[in-house]
Order: sequence, then C-alpha cells, then structure tokens
Amino acid sequence: MKKLLYITVFTTLLLSCTTNEENIETTVSEPKSDDSKREIAPTLVIHGGAGTINKENMSPELEKEYNEKLKEALNAGYKILNAGGSSSEAVIATIQIMESSPLFNAGIGAVYTHDETIEHDASFMDGATKNAGAVAGVSRIKSPIEAAYEVMNSSVHVMMSGKGAEMFAKQQGLDIVDPSYFYTEKRHQQLLRIKEKERSEHDQEGKSAQMEPYEHDYKFGTVGAVALDKNGNLAAGTSTGGMTNKRFGRIGDSPIIGAGTYADNQTCAVSSTGHGEYFIRNVVAYDISARMKYKGSTLEEAANSTIEALGEIDGTGGVICLDAQGNFILPFNTAGMYRGWINKIGHPNVLMYKN
Ligand code: ASP
Repeated sequence: MKKLLYITVFTTLLLSCTTNEENIETTVSEPKSDDSKREIAPTLVIHGGAGTINKENMSPELEKEYNEKLKEALNAGYKILNAGGSSSEAVIATIQIMESSPLFNAGIGAVYTHDETIEHDASFMDGATKNAGAVAGVSRIKSPIEAAYEVMNSSVHVMMSGKGAEMFAKQQGLDIVDPSYFYTEKRHQQLLRIKEKERSEHDQEGKSAQMEPYEHDYKFGTVGAVALDKNGNLAAGTSTGGMTNKRFGRIGDSPIIGAGTYADNQTCAVSSTGHGEYFIRNVVAYDISARMKYKGSTLEEAANSTIEALGEIDGTGGVICLDAQGNFILPFNTAGMYRGWINKIGHPNVLMYKN
C-alpha cells in the first residue's frame, strides 16, 4: 500500500512537472477523432539506469556530464525521427551513444563479473512486426545493441549467446574489439571493493555464499530507449553489462524479450532497468503491454501497476514506456533513474532524481 502511494505520488509529481513546462508533451492523449489525418509527433524516451542516484552523492561536474550525454543521445535519436527515419534506427543510434560513454553500464564502462571480465547483454524489439533480437554474455562486440538488431534482421533466431553470438556478429561485418576496449578504472575498482568486502565478511562470519551483487554500489546504469516514428511505429531496445560481481554466466533481464524489452504497436514500447532477477520473474516489460491489451488499462495505469507488483516481490528499478499516441511514463521505485524524453517541440528534457 505504501509502495502504491509512493509510485502514485511520484507519477503525479512527474505529470505535474511535465504539464507545468510548456515545451513538454504530457501523457494526455491527443484527440483520436481524425486519426487518418493526424500527423504523428515523433517521440523518444530514454533511461541510463535506476538506483541510488541522489543529489547529495553527485558532484556538479558529474551531474553536468550525465545531463549532457543524455541530451546528446536524445538529440541524436530525435534528429533521425524528425527526418522521417524509423523508430528502430532512432533506438539503435540513441543507445549507441550511451554504449560509447563510460558513464553508463553498457558498452564502454560496463560492470565487471566476478572473474574480472565484461559480459554484455542487449535486446531489441520492433513494435510493428513484433520481431525481436538479443545477445547475451558477449565480450567482444563493440555495439551489443547493434548485434541484437542484427540477430533480428539477419537470422532466424531471437537470442544468441557468448562465442556463437560473437561469431555471428563478425560474420555480419559488425565491429569486433578486444575486451580491454570496454575497460574503465572506475568499474574495476567497484568490483575490487565488492570482492574485498565479500572476503572480509567471509572471514568474519564464515559465510561462503556470494553476497548479493546489489548490496553494495547499489547503482545500475543500464541504458534503454523507446521511440515512436512518424509512421506510428514503436521500437524498444536495452543494453547493459548486467550486475557487478555476477557469476556463473548469469544473464539478467535486459536481453530477455518480455522482461527487459518489449514493443507492440497495439500497446506500448518498454525498456527496463533494475535488479534483473525480479524483472524476469515478473516479466515486467510484457506485463505492462498485457495489462493494456487484456485489461484495457491505460499506459499510465499499466506501468504503475507493474512497478507496484515489482515492489511487492522486493524488486527494485524502473521502466520507460511509450504508446503509439506519443504518451509516455517513466515510473521507478528506486531513489533515482537517469531518464529523459524529447518530442514534437524538439527540446530534450533530462531528469535524474525522484522529482
Ligand atoms: N537489469 C540489469 C540486469 O539485471 C541491470 C540494470 O538495469 O542496471 O542485468
């Protein structure tokens, strides 16, 4: 009940904040009376991960860096949409900008596994055809989201993993890099700190199990985008390094269609970020679409109910959701979520904290 209130309060804050700014499209639908003649306003919504993102822990310089990078990603994707490009192209280009930035847990700057390697996961879905592609546990593909897109376009499969996925990407002519390309000192140190803590807890308490990867450095950083193009087509994509200190070939929700990513022109496009195990168990991205499809819920009702249900099993994180009328909502139950949107006014909006 408390969580419902929290989500509702946050959503209200978000909506009132968006309606107060004249340059921001709200979640209110446009009139549907003359749909055939209505020009569709392209819209792009992104996230750069959810977690303990507090103003107190953020230096002004870092805040500026996040702001600028998120705006750069929004502008790049919107340029494509505004020129008549597809939602798919916009999603890929937007995510690639975040994959190339060390600020996010995707591409360069991805988190480390327990074995001090980097294993990326990514997925993509096209709302017009409901075709989809994904890669999991890949370490050498320069742009995992591009590889996911390629799995959708150039194979009969939906998901490929590890070495096989890398071989496929190479065959398709995608850029293959040495794993050191993704290295950042910050992420490496983050892993070493967690492992050290694990070791000392083990010594003190004789614990042998791995600590919850999320107990420390509780910040995510996965990236995602959902877009609506001028033809009314939705697309969604998500790319991540997963969770710090992950072991045993752990795969999160990000490459799983229905959990981390989903798109259907009849309902909505969704990209998730958060504690992946819970998103898988609640099939979060599809759950939002299903509430709209089978229950007739609005995008807002569906997304809030799904995040509420996630909280009920102690799952933490958030989602970005967009429907084919250009309504969007970005609910989360963590302290913050890097997020932003751009629509017909062409002005990028970025938020990080709760309100
Ligand atoms: N959902 C991702 C995972 O569990 C992590 C994240 O969103 O940052 O792998």
